[in-house]
Amino acid sequence: MAKHPRAELTFLMVKPDGVRRGLTGEIMRRVEQVGLKVIGLKMIRPTHKQVDDHYPKDKGWIRRLGEKTLATYEKYGFDAAKELGTTNPAKIGLMVRKWLLDFMTSGPVVAVAIKGIHAVAMIRKLAGNTMPSDAPLGTIRGDFSVDSAAAANREKRAVYNLVHASETENEARHEIAHWFGKEAVHDYHRTDDSVFE
Ligand code: ADP
Repeated sequence: MAKHPRAELTFLMVKPDGVRRGLTGEIMRRVEQVGLKVIGLKMIRPTHKQVDDHYPKDKGWIRRLGEKTLATYEKYGFDAAKELGTTNPAKIGLMVRKWLLDFMTSGPVVAVAIKGIHAVAMIRKLAGNTMPSDAPLGTIRGDFSVDSAAAANREKRAVYNLVHASETENEARHEIAHWFGKEAVHDYHRTDDSVFE
């Protein structure tokens, strides 16, 4: 039998900008407020390898990152060949991935394992669009950040968007295993689990 929708897991990370700005509590508050259950929580100063193994390394993902970046350059009339030395999406994707690794290892982060109904989609919804300038108000990125790819690419750095959130249940399983390892993630009964019983 398929598992109960309440058993869905996801992974959230407060990125170094979120920690530095003292937003960890506010982000956690929003997660708990909707009724999702925090089942694992820790602060880590990640190594380069830990972050390198966290983000996908496959050619498709890297190329997609490069294509998105190229699209930003076109949209704002920036010259990718002049600023980045190439218009090859695979090479640009690798460059952006490196900016991302530099950013994610620049300070402590907070790893959060979360359980609940549609946990993956709910946390993506709470986080808002990848680009804070496109994230609606009411979302974490929309309420607390103002960055965009245009600004980030001009400064040759990753977009500062406060949180990472798994995109699929499969990704969530890998990410929880990656960041929590053999450490237990916990489970407990939240009183609002049974509010209708
Ligand atoms: P998300 O984090 O919303 O799942 P992606 O997986 O597309 O988004 O990208 C991973 C991270 O890489 C983003 O959260 C952001 O920090 C950074 N990033 C994405 N696209 C760009 C870009 N064009 N320029 C700089 N950084 C980017």
